[in-house]
Amino acid sequence: MRGVLVKGAGVAGLTVAHELAVRGASVTVAEIQSQVGGNASWLAGGMLAPWCERESAEEAVVTLGKVSADWWGRTLPGLVTRAGTLVVAHARDASELARFAARTRNCESVDEEAIAALEPDLAGRFREGLFFAGEAHLDPRRALEALVDKLRAMGVVFLFEVGEMALSDFYQVIDCTGIARADDDLRGVRGEMLILRTQEVSLARPVRLLHPRHPIYIVPRADHHFMVGATMIESDHDGAITARSLMELLNAAYAVHPAFGEAEIVETGVGVRPAYPDNLPRVKRWGDGAITINGLYRHGFLLSPAMAEQAAGLLFNSSAGNSSAGLESENEADRQWRSA
Ligand SMILES: Cc1cc2nc3c(=O)[nH]c(=O)nc-3n(C[C@H](O)[C@H](O)[C@H](O)COP(=O)(O)OP(=O)(O)OC[C@H]3O[C@@H](n4cnc5c(N)ncnc54)[C@H](O)[C@@H]3O)c2cc1C
Repeated sequence: MRGVLVKGAGVAGLTVAHELAVRGASVTVAEIQSQVGGNASWLAGGMLAPWCERESAEEAVVTLGKVSADWWGRTLPGLVTRAGTLVVAHARDASELARFAARTRNCESVDEEAIAALEPDLAGRFREGLFFAGEAHLDPRRALEALVDKLRAMGVVFLFEVGEMALSDFYQVIDCTGIARADDDLRGVRGEMLILRTQEVSLARPVRLLHPRHPIYIVPRADHHFMVGATMIESDHDGAITARSLMELLNAAYAVHPAFGEAEIVETGVGVRPAYPDNLPRVKRWGDGAITINGLYRHGFLLSPAMAEQAAGLLFNSSAGNSSAGLESENEADRQWRSA
């Protein structure tokens, strides 16, 4: 008996592996691909933006997501940037800004001068915007790789290029296979993105450009790289980015700053977000005893910490997120898998 098997090395799998390992479980992570990457998590923007997301999401996303920057900061010190989110719109789309403000909170209105103070390279480009000072972001790829390193140091075993395994070898299986999971309630939401590089623009924080048809965001990364995202298409097709989407993302980036017109296109990518009908994630226990963490939709980095704590709480037979109470109330079965 080899403890807990976590299937899938996306953000859901790695965060729950961490929460189980810190509680003393013996954890194996099995990933069907040959390395970490190439999944939805690898293509994410890395925004930890619960209040902005409230524009189109339920209140639960704020409640569960507002602790995520602390979780990532505590788990991987130095990888979280806490510089807030700037939301802007061109003058012709001012009504979009009013609509966004009406649906969100925890932000302040900023004028041209304040925008220039926050982002000097955007000086004179937008008359008004919204600043969500309490939000944060990280580079998903650095975070996933750092999490793997940390988990290995904690004794977590990684198996790559692994298909179906002898599940009877494990006390518990936690399935974090994203859109690959056979679950009739799940659907795919295709997200196309690109990475640009230009020395001509510097941004300190994610910038969201509102637009009635093509809202986009730009997330700054190291070495003058910028992640530009993302389309939201009701489809689980993961084929290459379309010419239309590429044009729309590039047009929008150009509208934020014309220097993006001269940027190198470093990469384009397509990820499929796993989503339930209400676009909220679930920790589910199935008839065969497996637990799934899925449906993270556009909130994988934002909500994985809370989902991982819920799953760990379920395994320790305690209330979600109350891990120390879980250890205290450890029963015989818990002791068995912890020592397995
Ligand atoms: C363009 C884009 C931008 C995004 N931006 C953000 C953002 O800014 N902030 C945010 O919080 N979220 C964002 N998201 C959402 C986030 O990326 C997803 O919610 C998240 O990646 C889902 O994680 P997951 O671990 O469930 O799935 P995945 O990342 O897809 O991981 C599932 C893993 O399971 C593996 N697998 C499949 N089948 C098996 C099997 N049988 N055995 C073993 N392994 C298997 C797959 O290879 C994969 O590695 C974005 C998504 C996209 C596409």
